[in-house]
Amino acid sequence: MKFLFIVAISVLFPTFAWAWGLSEALNHPWGKARLVFSVINGNSINYCLQIADTGLFQDQSISQQIEKALHLWLEPLRELGIHNTIISRVSCDSPLLNLWVKVGPDADFPSLYAYNKEQKNANGAYTYTKVTLNTSYIYKTGSKQYGTIDFIKFANNDLNRQKKEMDLLSLKQMTLAKFSATRNIDWLAVYYSPYKMLIHEFGHSFGLCDAYSAQAIDSCDSKFSSRDQPPSIMRDAKFFYLTGDDIIGIRRLFARYLSPG
Ligand SMILES: [Zn+2]
Repeated sequence: MKFLFIVAISVLFPTFAWAWGLSEALNHPWGKARLVFSVINGNSINYCLQIADTGLFQDQSISQQIEKALHLWLEPLRELGIHNTIISRVSCDSPLLNLWVKVGPDADFPSLYAYNKEQKNANGAYTYTKVTLNTSYIYKTGSKQYGTIDFIKFANNDLNRQKKEMDLLSLKQMTLAKFSATRNIDWLAVYYSPYKMLIHEFGHSFGLCDAYSAQAIDSCDSKFSSRDQPPSIMRDAKFFYLTGDDIIGIRRLFARYLSPG
């Protein structure tokens, strides 16, 4: 049942969907690897970045995208009294590691574009989670095909511009459709960009489940899930900001584990 451990984007057009939900994995030992626990217990997230496709993807650009995407999920937690969570970059063999981001070809699950999977440390305990962006994945539709494009391409390879751009995307509540229309590019080209994927996958890294199609039944805890169907990062993943549903989800996730009072 390896599939149950994996949460990934594989369905573009959901036939039915759920709203926010907490991952069923949280009920198992491997659920301890999710970021909700590193934030509640240590108010920190230590990530590492491994880029196998150097040349196509810039280290500084991806690391900026990682930090921005993490901040998007942390922001709504202020209401719960969780402030100033420290995000640090560490080496991938650090014992402090909470989150490993790998950007490169993936032989384990070649048919998935992006996925999140809990990992064991050297002592056999689940202490970190790993997000893989499979850069060899190609989505084909008709005569067109789409591979992954680093978000910095949309900012003319300028790191400062990329940072401003990402800040504006959440501030203006930008959808993929609006963004691609203003740039006159195909929205599917934007869909397969690391920044957007990281926002969705980090939802899983924290402890949220997929809210689309059959994935929801497999990956969500029915005791901690809504049956409404609003648009969200965890359902449609067509946004550069958290929708109201995502915000409810991340707050419910933390509220579940924060000790009362
Ligand atoms: Zn997913």
